[in-house]
Amino acid sequence: MTRLYCANIVYAPACGEVVALEHHYIAVENGKVAGLYKDKPNEFKNLPIIDFGNQIMIPGFCDIHLHAGQFPNDGIGYNGQLMEWIQNYAYDVEQSMSQLDYARICYQKLIESLWKYGITRSVILGTHQRQTNELLFQLLEQSKLGAWTGKSVCDRSSTGNADETTETAISDLLYFCNTYGNKSDLVRFILSATYVPGCTPGSMELMGILAKLYNLPVSSHLCENNDEIELVKSLHPDYPNYASVYKGFHLWGETKTVMAHCIHTTEEEKELLEDPNIWVAHCPHSNLNLSSGIMPLREYLDRKLQVGLGSDIAAGHTLNMMSTMTAAIQCSKMYWLTHPDKKPITTKEAFYLATRGGGSLFGNIGSFEVGFEFDALIIDEYNLYHSPNLSLWERVEQFIYLGDDRNIVKRYISGNEVLKPVF
Ligand code: FE
Repeated sequence: MTRLYCANIVYAPACGEVVALEHHYIAVENGKVAGLYKDKPNEFKNLPIIDFGNQIMIPGFCDIHLHAGQFPNDGIGYNGQLMEWIQNYAYDVEQSMSQLDYARICYQKLIESLWKYGITRSVILGTHQRQTNELLFQLLEQSKLGAWTGKSVCDRSSTGNADETTETAISDLLYFCNTYGNKSDLVRFILSATYVPGCTPGSMELMGILAKLYNLPVSSHLCENNDEIELVKSLHPDYPNYASVYKGFHLWGETKTVMAHCIHTTEEEKELLEDPNIWVAHCPHSNLNLSSGIMPLREYLDRKLQVGLGSDIAAGHTLNMMSTMTAAIQCSKMYWLTHPDKKPITTKEAFYLATRGGGSLFGNIGSFEVGFEFDALIIDEYNLYHSPNLSLWERVEQFIYLGDDRNIVKRYISGNEVLKPVF
């Protein structure tokens, strides 16, 4: 099926490069972008046009790191740092998700929020509980949003709590690989280690095997906090650094791998991050809330690492990707003050990270280049100050800084309009 849309079209095909096309046509065939045209193309002359007038079409946002089970804790407990926060908040709220009626309410609200903020694709770490993760799969499939999700393994008690035994972790992993491994294009199982101190060598070894066997992506955390790094050193003294532990267990770049935070990385770890199968999830709100530090984003972009943005709910407090973009820009400005050779990122670069940067993890996602999935948001700035002198890109820039979910009036994923989920 072919559809023809007309709108002001803005996308970022490369980091720092934005294409802004006023009143252009975009043809979508079988859910993918087939072409962009200044004038209505002859080949589609008989097709009706879906005309968005003066509204703006941008790619859907991609949030490549968040925790479903922590959603009820949004905005709570940010007075300490990571290890204290995990002890006092994260474990307890994830345990409470074993009550399925409660988890259902929380997950429905989470999915509604993803929809609200135009997050068309995401990486969602689940809890350790099998039934709670099944519920999350079902609700996501119902919503028609794109997500890689599933059980987060936490079978080691090095921080005082272990959520599960290694036997349960292994049995659940095998179940999810077989049941959800490649069940659907939109909602897919991702192998998630909570972080190195939360996993035994046994569960990490199995995840490494399953990743290759089922060709499944991997997700975890890296070098978020200095106490965490010291803990990893004490647990794995034979490895030269944090990243090499994942590599040693075949959880590093053998399939697509997302590592969140990557703040306090050594030169050797930065070299490991250059692997073409590694994506860095930059989570600026979380890093500020837990005083974790500022990721060297400019250095990573200079080194051509693949970087996307993550809300890191609930250490981050909002799924609002426009807010995450501005936080990434502002963090890079603070970093620049102490690293004068690392200039701040621009709004165009942040826009790329929120769309094509994170989207590249999922495939041809996050742009309107020919062959890309038509994941799109329609933006209406009806309630924003809108000078007639603004360029099309300046209008998007203003939406990023001043806009909110009210300005996102339509969402498309793979060519289909996605309506507000009704559960
Ligand atoms: Fe996280």
